[in-house]
Amino acid sequence: MQLDLTTISIVSAFCAAICGLLLILARCQYPEAKFVWWWIASNVAFVVASLLLSRCQDHGLLHQISFAMMTFHPALIWTSTRMNGAHLVTSLVIFAGPAFVALAAFASSESRLLTSGTAHAFVGSAYLLATAYSIVFHPAQPKVPARFPLAGLCLLHALALGFALPVLSRLSDASPSTVHAAAELLQFEALLFILGSTIFVTAAMRESREADQRVKAETDELTGILNRRGFLDRAERALKRCRKDGTPCAVALFDLDYFKEINDTYGHATGDSALRAFIETAQRSMRSNDLFGRVGGEEFAALFPGADAPAALSLADRIRQSWIRSGRKIDGCDVNSTMSGGVVALHDDQSLEELLALADQGLYLAKKAGRNRIELATNDKPAPPTSQTCLA
Ligand code: GH3
Ligand code: MG
Ligand code: MG
Repeated sequence: MQLDLTTISIVSAFCAAICGLLLILARCQYPEAKFVWWWIASNVAFVVASLLLSRCQDHGLLHQISFAMMTFHPALIWTSTRMNGAHLVTSLVIFAGPAFVALAAFASSESRLLTSGTAHAFVGSAYLLATAYSIVFHPAQPKVPARFPLAGLCLLHALALGFALPVLSRLSDASPSTVHAAAELLQFEALLFILGSTIFVTAAMRESREADQRVKAETDELTGILNRRGFLDRAERALKRCRKDGTPCAVALFDLDYFKEINDTYGHATGDSALRAFIETAQRSMRSNDLFGRVGGEEFAALFPGADAPAALSLADRIRQSWIRSGRKIDGCDVNSTMSGGVVALHDDQSLEELLALADQGLYLAKKAGRNRIELATNDKPAPPTSQTCLA
């Protein structure tokens, strides 16, 4: 079988169709990955363009149409990437490239194959460079590992498109056979791109799903902050870093006072609003590297890396005082909520479990002493865990 432009275009079309089907199957498994429809559409554009190209022979107008169609391939890949990052996509940008390729041949005195092909190479390359940039650098793009090889493929495809056709066409005096050879090479390279990108788009879908599941497992559904598991996981890591660097660290437990009464008097919905309002208030006082999570119904834990006992005590008390003000009125009801807290600073090589147990002792003391206060737990020797509150 001779690998001329017709043959390679038919083979490419067939492979792109198979890859499109594989992407449809993957999309059925990951219905949240809506952007993949656009990637599948790019495969359709490639299939149609390749079939047109295989039928062209030396028909100028068909060359023009097939290369315009071929430009939809990178244009739709760019669209798909933008959709994945929820960026703005205007149909003008999607159609402008292919329209330019379709019209370029009219403005040129050279052969339509060469002009349309060169226009497609440059425009397609621009779409692909924008895609690679978006995948890696746009902050809204999912931060999955598969984005790097995917962006790498887009970059390589862009370079191949951008250089191959114009460079090859100038090797000789742009004879039809040279241009055909370049077009064949590009078709082959596009085929490799389609095979590779199918693998990495599928991997990106799977990795996005896994990342979402990880976030969900660590997030409290009602309030959107870390849940117990998420807090314990991250606090463990942060504490390890503090111990390693020898920096101070403190742990705090907060509990809303008489919260049951708020539910009983004003209803569960107002109780929920109070929880959210408390989180907002507490987070306003914290720094970006402090950790904060909901570890029980109306119980919260915080870890303050870099804070010694006085700093942690003053931060916790600032939160308590702010909550006196913000917890006064919730959903228009005079709730007058307050909070109590226990704080402990890291001593030697204590574990998170030990620190939480000590902070719980502080909280217990604060409740016992009449609530609406913060108690610093004494921590001169590691204590065995004594409480169930934060360690289940
Ligand atoms: P104390 O001052 O001793 O902490 O008293 P309390 O009433 O705050 O503590 P208690 O443990 O008796 O009651 C906690 C209440 O928190 C009971 C439970 O219904 C309520 N609660 C737990 N989770 C939620 C939630 O997600 N939403 C709402 N609205 N209430 C919750
Ligand atoms: Mg309580
Ligand atoms: Mg409680």
